[in-house]
Amino acid sequence: MSDVNRQIVLEQLPQGPLSPDHFRLTEGERPRAADGEVVVKTLYVSLDAANRAWMQGATYRSAINAGDVMAGGALAEVVESRAPNLAVGDLVFADTGWQEYAALPAKRLAKLPRLEPLTHLLSVYGVAGLTAYFGLLECGQPKAGETVVVSAAAGSVGSIVGQIAKIKGCGAVGIAGGAEKGRWLTDELGFDAAVDYKAADFKRQLREACPEGIDVYFDNVGGDVLEACLFGMKTFGRIACCGAVSQYDGDAPRHGPRGVPGLIVTKRLSVRGFIVSDFDDHRTQALADLQSWVASGQLKVQEDVIDGFENLPQALVGLLHGENRGKRMVKV
Ligand code: NAP
Repeated sequence: MSDVNRQIVLEQLPQGPLSPDHFRLTEGERPRAADGEVVVKTLYVSLDAANRAWMQGATYRSAINAGDVMAGGALAEVVESRAPNLAVGDLVFADTGWQEYAALPAKRLAKLPRLEPLTHLLSVYGVAGLTAYFGLLECGQPKAGETVVVSAAAGSVGSIVGQIAKIKGCGAVGIAGGAEKGRWLTDELGFDAAVDYKAADFKRQLREACPEGIDVYFDNVGGDVLEACLFGMKTFGRIACCGAVSQYDGDAPRHGPRGVPGLIVTKRLSVRGFIVSDFDDHRTQALADLQSWVASGQLKVQEDVIDGFENLPQALVGLLHGENRGKRMVKV
């Protein structure tokens, strides 16, 4: 085990779009565990669109400040333990930040099963899979035969949302950037239709894909795409508000949606925001369902694994620009 701890610091808070120049690679000493703590070695760092949102200020977690080790969740292995609930070799999902080793209070950590491939613990059995599951089934309440639309559909959460919609007997329409991602959604993942939000005729494509309107819209992006979907909602439709990636990579919200209150009233829409941890009490059932769908081949898992700790900044910038298909992570 190395005594050196490589870390990536957010050197400067971005004003406008994030770039790799906002980060700096540095080296510190590997931390040691105090009483009640473990030291973990980071194996795979999860790249999340919300990493950029945390730079805009406090959200459901504290804001990141200039000079901080970049925040982020990771799959990590215990390498030193001074706590009764975890032993050397145990796997955990932890808020390690972008560093090779972290000392953390053990009582906040839960041991994960050592399944193969390990990366599934960050994708389908991690935050992405659970967010898709609870956001769609608890907030969206889809019924067989209904039309479910999801944005950022080729990303980690969205690609699972559309597949769960199909498993539940719904029609699934994915909104993603570019025709190639759209073809992947329909040809490989079984979505019924895909809509390119970057195309000039986006709204026409959306109307054609949902000729009878939208029953459930799973919103990952906010902004103009949310506005377009609001106009396409059926009466008594449901909107699950998961995130707003179109608003993250800048300083302040810049676009839409307009006309929201009137549309919500006249269409009697239910609009519900959620954070995946709201449903922690129901994780066991969710994981059992996700595992059975993966085992039966009904749910395909797409992962985008980039090798090399030093590639984290570029990997996050690329995610915000739509480089990824499925769950992006960096192997340390
Ligand atoms: P992801 O979907 O894997 O990747 C982000 C995708 O967003 C990119 O691939 C890109 O695909 C798309 N995108 C980027 N800019 C966009 C824009 N201006 N308009 C429309 N699409 C844009 O990322 P993720 O980390 O899984 O996050 C997806 C969403 O889930 C985020 O809003 C995140 O905050 C949210 N989330 C919420 C929770 C919760 O508990 N509520 C938990 C996890 C994640 P294109 O090529 O299609 O543009």
